[in-house]
Amino acid sequence: MVERAKVDMEKIVSLCRRRGFIFPSSEIYGGLSSCWDYGPLGVELKRNIKQAWWRAVVQERDDIVGLDTSILMHPRIWEASGHVQGFSDPLVECKSCHLRWRSDDLEGSSCPTCGGELTEPHLFNLMFKTFMGPVEEAASVVYLRPETAQGIFVNFQNVLNTTRKRLPFGIAQIGKAFRNEITTGNFIFRSREFEQMETEFFVKPGTDEEWFNYWLEERLNWYVKLGITKENLRLRQHSKEELAHYARACYDIDYLFPMGWSELEGIANRGDFDLVQHAGSSGKNLDYYDDESKEHYIPYIIEPSAGVDRSALAFLCDAYDEEPDQEEIRVILRLHPSLAPIKVAVLPLSRREKLVKLAKQIYADLRQCWMVSYDDAQSIGRRYRRQDEIGTPFCATIDFQSLEDEQVTIRERDTMNQIRVPIAELRRTLQAKLEGEDLFVLPPGGKIWKEGEG
Ligand code: ATP
Repeated sequence: MVERAKVDMEKIVSLCRRRGFIFPSSEIYGGLSSCWDYGPLGVELKRNIKQAWWRAVVQERDDIVGLDTSILMHPRIWEASGHVQGFSDPLVECKSCHLRWRSDDLEGSSCPTCGGELTEPHLFNLMFKTFMGPVEEAASVVYLRPETAQGIFVNFQNVLNTTRKRLPFGIAQIGKAFRNEITTGNFIFRSREFEQMETEFFVKPGTDEEWFNYWLEERLNWYVKLGITKENLRLRQHSKEELAHYARACYDIDYLFPMGWSELEGIANRGDFDLVQHAGSSGKNLDYYDDESKEHYIPYIIEPSAGVDRSALAFLCDAYDEEPDQEEIRVILRLHPSLAPIKVAVLPLSRREKLVKLAKQIYADLRQCWMVSYDDAQSIGRRYRRQDEIGTPFCATIDFQSLEDEQVTIRERDTMNQIRVPIAELRRTLQAKLEGEDLFVLPPGGKIWKEGEG
């Protein structure tokens, strides 16, 4: 295993800003607290995370289907789910400086900023409220969803009727969620607008524990397969006091973020709570008819609920590395190739017309397969470093010899190894390398050496 440099949040925030991964929202107006904008590289990273999740959860399975429900939903959904009544945190206010805090986040009994006296805690509902239509009155109140899960529960019968899926099966959704968090922070870890990737997996009561354990393992492995260091992940069981009102059991997958172990994903056994609530409240039958046992029952639900933004932060922190590079420091994002925003950088050694023509041809060809960047500014060493810093796994360098032998150099980010391959084999070779084939496996006519060795 590569020994990783100690990463602190400042380095990640600064890299994200400098290279266009993540910017503060509404920056030219002084920013909007706890909201973030994903820049040209950030948007690719985020798309790749969502794609990897969708692939593992929907595409490669035949027992889960996808869904995309609206953010605004009938307000009674949030009454039935318990959010109107119970989705709140205890809030205290400092009597001197008037800053507000989540009382369960505080260690002492006075204000952490000025030491002032705090008010008694009162419950603060985390849902954002707005109005539907032109009249701002109680009857037109709607909420921005605080989780994507409820859109899945209320479509359970629709999916069942239209897909002919039988238990056990799941429904997966990726989408925005909004929480009016009292305290935010740690960059994109806790914000008020974020994205979730949630699966609701419906099972026969009595098989729920087995499926719960299955999903714990499955989800933990997903992070490991995408390159997160195993030692930086742990499962943490919720105590009885901590369990949400709907949950029979819950574990968090925690990641060792720079600020310490914190939740990356929650996996809950929700029992039949949600479907029973919505059946009662809507008056619709949400039973399942089991053709094998000839019984009607309400399925139990296992819910792995992950955050896109927290995953992005964990992948960035885990990939961050530094190495001495003569007088300087080489910063490398050792992102898994499937997550890297740019897969290949095409680098012509000079701006001479003939070379540029060939490089542009190669660039146009590779772009049909992946996100590829073209860079002809400054020395080749500097260009390699720029790509290392944003996690580009491969560079394809075109030099004068390429014009004669119709070969180019592929340089690999992590090892800095270089191989020379025929242009005709370039796409296929990169495809194999991006899928994990050893760099030392050469196509016909290939050659290997190390960066700086000639
Ligand atoms: P926390 O205890 O950190 O507030 P939670 O237990 O309330 O999180 P869940 O309701 O289980 O979170 O939501 C599932 C996932 O959604 C979390 O594991 C996290 O990845 C993501 N998530 C929840 N709240 C936020 C937030 N405010 N900002 C970013 N991601 C969030």
